[in-house]
Amino acid sequence: AHVKNPPPAIDGNALVSMCLSRAGIDRMFGVVGIPVTSLANRAQALGVRFIAFHNEQSAGYAASAYGYLTARPGVLLTVSGPGCVHGLAGLSNSAANAWPMILISGSSDQSLTGRGDFQELDQIAAVKPFSKFSAKATDITEIPKSVFSVVDWAVAGRPGGTYLDLPTDVLHQTVDESEAERLIAEALKSRDKALIEKPRIDNSKIKKAVELLRSAQRPLIVFGKGAAYAKSDNELTKLVESTGIPFLPTPMGKGLISDKHELAATAARSLAIGKCDVALIVGARLNWLLHFGEPPKWSKDVKFIIVDVCEEELELRKPFLGILGDATKVVGMIHKEIKDDPFCLGKTHPWVEAVRNKGKDNVAKMEVQLSKVVVPFNFLTPMKIIRDAILGVGSPAPVVVSEGANTMDVGRSVLVQTEPRTRLDAGTWGTMGVGLGYCIAAAVASPDRLVVAVEGDSGFGFSAMEVETLVRYQLPVVVIVFNNGGVYGGDRRNPDEITGPYKDDPAPTSFVPGAAYHVLIEAFGGKGYLAGTPDELKSALAESFSARKPAVINVTIDPYAGAESGRLQHKN
Ligand code: ADP
Repeated sequence: AHVKNPPPAIDGNALVSMCLSRAGIDRMFGVVGIPVTSLANRAQALGVRFIAFHNEQSAGYAASAYGYLTARPGVLLTVSGPGCVHGLAGLSNSAANAWPMILISGSSDQSLTGRGDFQELDQIAAVKPFSKFSAKATDITEIPKSVFSVVDWAVAGRPGGTYLDLPTDVLHQTVDESEAERLIAEALKSRDKALIEKPRIDNSKIKKAVELLRSAQRPLIVFGKGAAYAKSDNELTKLVESTGIPFLPTPMGKGLISDKHELAATAARSLAIGKCDVALIVGARLNWLLHFGEPPKWSKDVKFIIVDVCEEELELRKPFLGILGDATKVVGMIHKEIKDDPFCLGKTHPWVEAVRNKGKDNVAKMEVQLSKVVVPFNFLTPMKIIRDAILGVGSPAPVVVSEGANTMDVGRSVLVQTEPRTRLDAGTWGTMGVGLGYCIAAAVASPDRLVVAVEGDSGFGFSAMEVETLVRYQLPVVVIVFNNGGVYGGDRRNPDEITGPYKDDPAPTSFVPGAAYHVLIEAFGGKGYLAGTPDELKSALAESFSARKPAVINVTIDPYAGAESGRLQHKN
């Protein structure tokens, strides 16, 4: 007779992977090393796609954007100490943008705490300012509950970052298989339902919102990346089209309703926000990006109706009417309430006409600028060529990743978004260096879409080594670098300022002129292009877009074409 082998023991690494997989996590980003290499291997064996980066900062940005694009927490796996600290970049970016992500870090042996163990750090204290919730599994039996809690907390209420701490000794403890299953079942049963439930929506507030919109002379609907995250595209489209109210997306709200829609107020932004009397704000904060909702950009009498899933946000802004709830549900309820007694401004309504005419005027003016072919390139000439190439791709539209000072500013007004969640940029925090991480997240989240990054040479440089990651996973990402030789471009110092013993050093804003960024990706087997003329750029775009393989297009820009700090000069 056979002697049965005992079932294999499950160690902490395997148990964490099992729990993540049960919680529906099927993608992870990170950098492996002691003590988490085995965790990544186990997760991969369980069907989780692990994308291995060079740098935790970039992997963290990827995890945060993945959370936004999929509405499921993006996971960043790091080693202890310095790995965790590098990961704080991604965690803080998630907090600032209200995107769900989980930072999972290994940590040093608990029995050696305080004695200077390898990569020792009080990581729970380090993550505190940037996380909504953190858990430390101090024993293998605590793993399942800790994993499910960080997953649930990341998406609860206003999404954000959470942290899971896994000490080395816990990762090496073992339980047998039946005990592992029992712990998982128990943790699943005790999951906090309150975290998963959405707030109940106050119907009297829906009625009030409809009254306000109905009686407004100059209503406006503004939506942001909270509405994009909530996938409110259909509900917003129905509301806008049935009422005829002009709409204004924030930069990442662009595409929820196509930028080409006739009620888009994007090109008439100043007029729209300056003159509207009732503004329905859906999933967007009245922060710096929306001028705090205050004069002189907004009229002092504007009545704000704010729809947000976060109660503190409503308390902070003190709008005329605050509606707590999920954007999609609230907008759907508003639409339904209106349907019983419909109203529509119509094309000839003076407000609609004013916004449309102003928009047309501005677009025409911009087109005049865009149609001038300037070589050496300014920002507009290549941006128009890129805009047309992106539009030429059709549906599914590419995801556009944008960062840089001038490159992002010009890109925001020139590039056109026709589909939801197809724009990722420096965001609420103005984070530079997000480009490559966001590209990788977008390619992993939406495998059917081409990803096109349009970024400055400075933004690209933060994580340029991740072009190797693009090549390794063969992701359909084309990175277009606007190369003007520095942060903001050429040396803009006043000659009187250039004194002192280091006056012969390059300006703090400059890089090596004519850097061959396109050669960088070729070192790994990707495709590089150098483009200094319209024809060179058009042919590089046509070839790389149809190849859908990793490529870098190095676009030579006149170093003196841009402005310092882009459009935020007053802040520098
Ligand atoms: P933008 O930068 O596009 O203006 P913000 O990031 O400032 O957008 O604002 C997004 C807002 O959306 C946040 O206040 C967040 O709490 C909110 N939000 C997130 N998810 C939802 C949701 N499902 N429904 C409604 N609001 C949401």
